[in-house]
Amino acid sequence: MLLTKERVSVQREPTRHPGLIDPFGRAITYLRVSVTDRCDFRCVYCMSEHMTFLPKRDLLTLHELDRVCSAFVAHGVRKLRITGGEPLVRRDVLGLFRSLSRHLVSGALDELTLTTNGSQLGRFAAELADCGVRRVNVSVDTLDAEKFRSITRWGDLAQVLAGIDAAQAAGLRVKVNTVALKGVNEDEIGTLMEWAHGRGMDLTLIEVMPLGDIEPSRLDQYLPLSVVRARLSGLYTLDDLDDRTGGPARYVWVSETGGKLGFITPMTHNFCESCNRVRLTCTGQLFMCLGQEDAADLRTPLRMSEGNERLEQAITDAIARKPKGHDFIIDRRHTRPAVARHMSMTGG
Ligand code: SAM
Ligand code: SF4
Repeated sequence: MLLTKERVSVQREPTRHPGLIDPFGRAITYLRVSVTDRCDFRCVYCMSEHMTFLPKRDLLTLHELDRVCSAFVAHGVRKLRITGGEPLVRRDVLGLFRSLSRHLVSGALDELTLTTNGSQLGRFAAELADCGVRRVNVSVDTLDAEKFRSITRWGDLAQVLAGIDAAQAAGLRVKVNTVALKGVNEDEIGTLMEWAHGRGMDLTLIEVMPLGDIEPSRLDQYLPLSVVRARLSGLYTLDDLDDRTGGPARYVWVSETGGKLGFITPMTHNFCESCNRVRLTCTGQLFMCLGQEDAADLRTPLRMSEGNERLEQAITDAIARKPKGHDFIIDRRHTRPAVARHMSMTGG
């Protein structure tokens, strides 16, 4: 259902509730929401070439997505990140941004943001900015057009770069995400960083995570960021920053380029102790930890009634089950994915 301005204006504002605190005393203030499992790319580390996507009836409608996000906001969530699959290929997704922007206006929400492959930013950047989006994460693994095509299978680098131009022209701050891939882009990390920092964009490097079955072996793709960092520190001055966002990234300041470089290293470091986030899939499953199988079904309570009591109970019950941490491992004895779902389900 399209969330028109008219519909938004008659939606009930949720009552404010106490914040969500998990059994380890961590306040849950950040919700990542995957709005679709579909994508216009087929990145080799993320999807198999012939993915089977979910039937549309299994997806939460935009109205249901708004309801569940709003319930989290009413329970103290201050940051929403819309992701996917590719969020900007979901039909009418701008209606969801428009509708959620009311929480920015009311002050209940600090940030509404998204992670995207950038292919549709040329079309949507200005409207996203108009909905109160201030920052966007764009995934770019290489600046070589041919390599880009082979990593994404279907992607067009020029279109993504034009999307980044459009985002910056619309006043959005752009952060670039790059998955470090052994033998693929490892010789390009310095170039990517100089390009990003030269355009005023932070760069975050991500280690391949063992999520979902794909054709190439992850042993072939896995490049520890400790190796990348050691190589970069021979060429650049990397000063640790105390930039803790509750997330898995650790940041350094690079003096020569005057920009921030982040490292997301779930395989070599544990970042769970300060975890402030949970993840909702496009079918309404709430994952309390990226690296564990346990999920709570929010779709059933959402669809049981138009009122939010059951939904809110399901959310508080789920947070009470948030585990202490995860247990990813890729080595020669563990070549199976640690969890069966693909990253495109939980959105990273
Ligand atoms: N389609 C959007 C994009 O590519 O930015 C949003 C969804 S994508 C699943 C979110 C992030 O997860 C991207 O930066 C992508 O590179 C990363 N990603 C996907 N699969 C991954 C994996 N197996 N290991 C590490 N990062 C992965
Ligand atoms: Fe699509 Fe993003 Fe996965 Fe690439 S990483 S296939 S762009 S969802």
